[in-house]
Amino acid sequence: MINKKIGFIGCGKMAQAIIGGLIQSGLVAKEELFASAKSDATVNKVMDMFHINATTNNVEVAANADILILAVKPDLHQTVIEEVSNSIKIDTVIITIAAGITLDYLEQAFGKKIKAIRVMPNTPSLVGEGMSAICANESVKEEELNEVKVLFESFGKAEVFPEKLMDTIPAVSGSSPAYVYMFIEALADGAVKQGMNRDQAYILAAQAVLGAAKMVLETGMHPGVLKDNVCTPGGATIEAVTILEKHGLRSAVMMAMEACTVKSKALK
Ligand code: NAP
Repeated sequence: MINKKIGFIGCGKMAQAIIGGLIQSGLVAKEELFASAKSDATVNKVMDMFHINATTNNVEVAANADILILAVKPDLHQTVIEEVSNSIKIDTVIITIAAGITLDYLEQAFGKKIKAIRVMPNTPSLVGEGMSAICANESVKEEELNEVKVLFESFGKAEVFPEKLMDTIPAVSGSSPAYVYMFIEALADGAVKQGMNRDQAYILAAQAVLGAAKMVLETGMHPGVLKDNVCTPGGATIEAVTILEKHGLRSAVMMAMEACTVKSKALK
């Protein structure tokens, strides 16, 4: 149980995924969660969904928070920070989940020494299977960083990285669900081509991808060994693997990731 007040400025898809995860895990009491959004519609929706404190007043949320999560779009950070910077407590840990907002940027925008953390979650957070990459500035104590890690683990996995690796995160875990959806769609198209109905094809394809991912995470075995284990000598799987190698599946993925990283850096 984390006995801290957690504030969210911005309460859209990502904040709602985090709040849902926190409540479901029982890690934080509902009374300790505070959220603000721009519109009354979102405020009412959030209160109905989660029965937490919600308001359109960002300052109220910031002033209350021991951990403050900025969950607005990157281009709104400056405005929101200007609005709340004089209201935060001296020890508040400030987290941004926005792509491209650096620790330096946060410190400069607040205009004072702050405990700053950057987290890059991904959309599977919405179903409790998120992957969050975390980095912190030197003002954040180890126990504070661990607490934030536990918080993000309430809806998936979380790992801490040095900030220089944060540029790699979009390519590996931020954007990669899109590549995997393409793969699932291709598997289903292949099955439909061979006569299977589309609904069942998506179930087979998605469950195979989910199961393969679990095999990697839960057995700790090298993905190459797991692949070898499926390939019976002279069998059908190695025929498919040969075609994927011939058409450069691995190099296509690695080149796509390089392009993703280049673009992510350019977006700052
Ligand atoms: P979203 O659904 O559009 O939510 C944005 C929220 O910000 C809305 O609740 C909006 O309120 C609120 N807002 C706008 N202006 C505000 C203001 N002046 N003061 C307070 N709240 C304000 O966006 P999202 O997808 O959750 O993304 C939020 C952040 O997470 C972004 O920085 C994004 O880069 C990052 N992120 C998103 C994903 C993702 O997959 N979605 C993944 C990783 C990181 P209203 O609802 O009232 O308009």
